[in-house]
Amino acid sequence: MEIWDGHCHLSGYAGTPDERVGKLVALADRMGVDRLCIFMGANFHYDPTPEEMRAANDEVLDGLRNWHHHAFGFVYLNPNHLDASLAEFARCVEQGPMVAIKLWVAQHCDSPDVDAIVTRAAAAKAPIFQHTWQKITGNLPGESTAEELARLAARHPEATFICGHAGGDWENGIRAIRPHANVYADLGGGDPTAGFTEMAVRELGAERVIFGSDIPGRSYASQLAKVYGAQITEEAKRLIFSENLKRLLTPILKLKGVPVY
Ligand SMILES: [Zn+2]
Repeated sequence: MEIWDGHCHLSGYAGTPDERVGKLVALADRMGVDRLCIFMGANFHYDPTPEEMRAANDEVLDGLRNWHHHAFGFVYLNPNHLDASLAEFARCVEQGPMVAIKLWVAQHCDSPDVDAIVTRAAAAKAPIFQHTWQKITGNLPGESTAEELARLAARHPEATFICGHAGGDWENGIRAIRPHANVYADLGGGDPTAGFTEMAVRELGAERVIFGSDIPGRSYASQLAKVYGAQITEEAKRLIFSENLKRLLTPILKLKGVPVY
């Protein structure tokens, strides 16, 4: 079965960005994963300065250079630095090889600061991957929930969103995004809990569920198990493992002249 991984990072490995992507690709090859989406540099910054944001994206650009056939980049932006973020979007996506946006924990995603980023993303056909979580111990100050992403998505029916970690507390997260057909659930991170993928497929439809590993923060075995071990049809597994993400990225990959097959 063809597998595209929508959620990978460069952290946790030694070496240059090129060497780190090489290690990721070797791991992916061993586990039968064909394509990787990579975002953020070796060091994660909760609220990156414009310089830290550019440095993280430079590492990804550098890491992608020799691995175009295997890996795609998502540009890491910080809505607290809106002008710098829009300039970075222009540099890395509109004029560069990256194909989507990653937003993490700097700012709540239903903030009006995020609207200008979403408008630019939609015009460029770039999906937006938004980290979401709901922690019983309390979220980080700028950390978004799936409810907040649902509010942002309702304001922007023209844009496409991926709900990172399906809300973390996925029983709530899946319900929060359910009414919004432009929001897809990322399965990455967390434990391979029985019933997670089944609930996502039941409530959203298999065409709105996307495989991601969050590697190297999580192992391929634990993350692939969420789909391989789920009580869903083979057709649903094919959609989740590759066809949905391929469908989301095909318009922008075509604009960039990257063949999709
Ligand atoms: Zn992640």
